[in-house]
Amino acid sequence: MANKTLAIIKPDAVKDNYIGEIISMITKAGFNIKAMKMIHLTKAQAQKFYEVHKERPFYNDLIDYMTSGPCIPIALEKENAVEDYRKLIGATDPTQAEEGTIRKLYARNKQFNAVHGSDSDENALREIAFFFSEKELLENYYD
Ligand code: ADP
Ligand code: MG
Repeated sequence: MANKTLAIIKPDAVKDNYIGEIISMITKAGFNIKAMKMIHLTKAQAQKFYEVHKERPFYNDLIDYMTSGPCIPIALEKENAVEDYRKLIGATDPTQAEEGTIRKLYARNKQFNAVHGSDSDENALREIAFFFSEKELLENYYD
């Protein structure tokens, strides 16, 4: 049974020209890409996407960061997608991330950490729906 997760190549990694490397790591790890786009988030969009972090001390910095340039949301599908993708990206802070993970290789620091990954199946569906319409998700393409 294939599960879904939402990846985002964040503005720092787009600026640092790591788009190709990161997508390559994702597809080599066995994820299918269901939908993908490049988008420069407005402040209102970023605030809505990260609403769960509203009370966190880093919230305003996070909104500034995520609106600082274009990012690339990617809807992914794979068995055990949420957990496997979080394993592939590594810990939030790249100094704590395992060798060979996307954040270890491409993040600048704990804030500018190259990629996003959903933290549960429920949030994955909510986050995918935030960026993509039903029509944009290639529902039966890989079957
Ligand atoms: P993750 O992205 O690993 O799920 P969180 O959901 O806790 O991490 O945080 C969301 C994002 O907020 C992080 O990816 C990072 O960009 C930023 N962030 C988290 N913690 C901090 C912090 N202490 N200082 C600055 N930015 C942070
Ligand atoms: Mg998170």
